[in-house]
Formats: sequence, structure tokens, C-alpha cells
Amino acid sequence: MDVKTYPWQQELLGTLLAMRGRLPNGVLIYGPRGIGILEAALAFAASLMCTDPLPDGRACGRCKGCRMVRSNTHPDLRLVVSEFECAAHGLDFAMPEGVDEKKNLSREILIGQTRELSEFLGLMSHEGGVRAVVVYPADKLRAEAAASLLKSLEEPPENTVFILAADDLDSVLATIRSRCRLVRAQAPSRAQAEAWLREQGVENPGERLTASAGMPLPALHEDPRYAMSEASRRRLLDYLAAGAAADPGAAVGAVDKDMTIAAAALVLSRWAWDLASAAAGGPVRYFPAYEEALRAVAADAAPAGLFRWINSVRDVRRVAEHTLNARVVIEAILLSYARCLARR
Ligand SMILES: [Zn+2]
Repeated sequence: MDVKTYPWQQELLGTLLAMRGRLPNGVLIYGPRGIGILEAALAFAASLMCTDPLPDGRACGRCKGCRMVRSNTHPDLRLVVSEFECAAHGLDFAMPEGVDEKKNLSREILIGQTRELSEFLGLMSHEGGVRAVVVYPADKLRAEAAASLLKSLEEPPENTVFILAADDLDSVLATIRSRCRLVRAQAPSRAQAEAWLREQGVENPGERLTASAGMPLPALHEDPRYAMSEASRRRLLDYLAAGAAADPGAAVGAVDKDMTIAAAALVLSRWAWDLASAAAGGPVRYFPAYEEALRAVAADAAPAGLFRWINSVRDVRRVAEHTLNARVVIEAILLSYARCLARR
């Protein structure tokens, strides 16, 4: 999984990371839906898996622990997340088999998921450190699942922290709530949310924000122009990760027929941002899972060509609104990618 946090979460993360020294058995993060509380819970859990955290406690993103978190293979981290939220947040590893339609996914945490958790809790920590269990949405637990989770919270195994996240605190069972330290997540201010949406390439952020009751994430994700399936996104990123060696033939395959320019431009401009930052020796912000590839592409690319391509991505965002033929425009920018990056 990719660990990401949002600019309005600094205080929240500070509160969570300050607990690293003396961990409670349970933490319950709550706040309105659409401000990224699952992401904050995951970032906190990731920080506990990191063996070489940054001075402020955040995960380093480079150590063995962080690499295992990224590849969803850390043996001491368990996610108990509803099928629906797994799909919505791209946490594909927890998807049940044979489910592919969003509408069929359960919004509740099911008993099978907490049963698996009990098995996990019966084991020892593999890496010898803390174990973390992230539960979301903690306000949507099927009754049997809630009972099973409560039992684990009442008899917490050693060195295990339960990080619960809930959109609606009042719907969390009082018995579960009382076992946790409560941490409230604040929604961003209107100005903060608007600035962030503008940075993401959303036009009329004010309007979108009003339509989503002031919550920034739905304002971004529920804008159909920006919608892209996880598979399409991955195909596009895999193409970009090949850098100058990207196969022109694959450029055509990387563009789905229903991909909008706006959605492609969002991914491309984030990739361009990460590339420019990597070229300057800075951090990779949007696609940490592709960090190695981004750094290799930035290091190998002809600098002038690299920045020519990054500039052309800006132009694509400008034409995104008055679309001629989305496919042609996106394919053209993908084809120019390998050409611009190649050292002659
Ligand atoms: Zn680390």
C-alpha cells in the first residue's frame, strides 16, 4: 500500500506519532468522512513498522519494514478494512476472491475478517517489534465481528496496538470506544481544502467543495472526470516507469477507451512532479511505490528533454477541458515521453 497523508493532517499526525513512545492498546481516530482518516491510521501504523523513522516519527519509506508495508507483506501489520473501502482506497490485497463489482462489496466489516484477525493475534510478532491492526470503518462492524474485535481489545496481546478509524463516533459501540484513546481528526478549513484541490488540478474547487459538503477527498474522487480504474492507473504508471525504454506500442495499450484527458492529466502531472523532484534529488510524493523507477528514469533522462516533457504535461492539462479526442491527446503525450527522455 502507498502511505499518503494530507496537508491538513499535520496536527493529527503529530498527536498520533507522539504515542509511539508509549503506545496505548487501542486508538480510535474519528472525524467526518472524506478527510482521509484511514490514510492517517495507515500512516501511523506504517510508522510503527519502520525501523529507522524520521526525526518526527514518520516512516522513512526506505527501510526493510517500510518496503514490506509498501508491498503489503509486513507480517506484523493487519488491515481489517471493509471490502468497499479496500476497493475505494486501492488496498487490493485484502479483496475477497471473485468480487469485482463495486456494488457487491460489503460496506461492513464481516465476521470472517475478524476471525482471521484472531488467528493473527494468536501468533508471535515476526519482526520482533510492535504489531499493528488497522480497523476501518470501526462504526460499521457486523455484530459478530464487533464482538470478536471487542474480545481482542479486552484481552490485548502483548505489543499489539489496535488503530481504529471511524467516520461516525456515535455509531461505534460504547464498549469498543471505552477501550480506546480517542483522537479527533479535524476537517480542513475551506481555504485549505480549496488550495489543495486546485493543486490537484480540480477546476472550480469552490463549487466542487460545496457539492461535497466541504470534504476535499470526495470533491476530488467523485468528480467523474478524474475517475480512473486501479487497473488503468497501474497500466499507465507501468508504461511511464519504463522511461526512455517505454515501448511506443504499449502507449496505445496504456490508454483505456473511457479514460478522460482530465483523469490522465492528473496522473501524468503527478508523475511529472515526482520526476522533477527526483531529478533535483528531492522526495517522491505521489507514487512512492514507483520511487525506484522514478529515480532511475530521472537519472537516465536527458535533462533538457525531461523538462520539455514536463512542460508539455502542463499544456495537456490546459486543453483537458475542450477535448478533441482524448485518446489521441493522451497517446501523443505518452509517445513523446520516451522520445523526450532518450539521450541522443
Ligand atoms: Zn522505514
